[in-house]
Amino acid sequence: MKVGMKVGIVGLGLIGGSMALDMKASGQYQLYGVSRRPETCRQAVEWGVVQEASTNFALLADMQMVILCTPLGVMEETVQRLLPHLNPDTVLTDVGSVKRAVVDALAPLWPNFVGGHPMAGTADSGLAAAQRHLFVDCAYVLTPVPSTPALAVERVTHLAQVLGSRVYHCTPDEHDRAVAWISHLPVMVSASLIAACLHEADVGVVKLAKTLASSGFRDTSRVGGGNPELGRMMATYNREALLRSLYGYRHQLDQVIDLIERSQWEELEQRLGQTQASRPEFT
Ligand code: NAP
Repeated sequence: MKVGMKVGIVGLGLIGGSMALDMKASGQYQLYGVSRRPETCRQAVEWGVVQEASTNFALLADMQMVILCTPLGVMEETVQRLLPHLNPDTVLTDVGSVKRAVVDALAPLWPNFVGGHPMAGTADSGLAAAQRHLFVDCAYVLTPVPSTPALAVERVTHLAQVLGSRVYHCTPDEHDRAVAWISHLPVMVSASLIAACLHEADVGVVKLAKTLASSGFRDTSRVGGGNPELGRMMATYNREALLRSLYGYRHQLDQVIDLIERSQWEELEQRLGQTQASRPEFT
């Protein structure tokens, strides 16, 4: 006979599928999935990701916890459709990469909600991209609000530990401002780097640059060459914090331009020395 906490996963894609694989392997959960497409539900059961799956939220009627793993843009409408099927004790959490918009929308709808963000991913999406151990040694941020019940926080904390993640608590705003610097700003900067190269007027030089590009360019352009839909989501749902980071970055860039225009090599080197010394604090 199967034992374990009954958990529903809504949105069987990269993150939902990857979580399910590790949760299943822990032996501590009975997993049920709801996804948009019948084909995804069929595959999730066939591949053993969850024990049952459906496009109908009624499947999640007696879950102890439900994890929302849909794209950010459909979370609120998904919860509106899910709520009539939940019992009041069900803990609801999400995995969205932006927290204030999600927490503001969902916390008033369900008192037993705790916002979460497992900070791992790949460039791929969909159930076929799901993989074991995706969250090991990664940060898992929880953003409870003062009214969030302790039991809800405990349940999601335990889940994060089962996944092998490190748990951090902060406010939704602090989360969004921090990820704007280390995740959303880099996407825009890296995309702008690629765009700037492509705007070189001499096509021969562009062609040569593409041929010569190697590890340095690969590293700095990687996140800018990712899924445009995700970039749009970051900008839409974390607009304020992202703009603040972009203005800060533009200011730094202007200062660098100014030093180079004025041939201030000593100051430039000092500045690069400071960033060289500080970088290890971010990795
Ligand atoms: P994904 O691979 O595209 O998975 C999302 C899944 O949600 C899709 O497979 C789709 O399933 C399902 N879905 C779409 N609309 C739905 C709806 N209206 N109702 C129910 N299911 C629906 O995306 P993901 O990368 O896993 O991202 C999911 C969430 O994780 C997002 O909120 C994102 O912010 C967050 N996140 C992403 C990353 C990352 O690096 N990718 C990291 C941390 C957190 P069907 O196949 O059934 O259409």
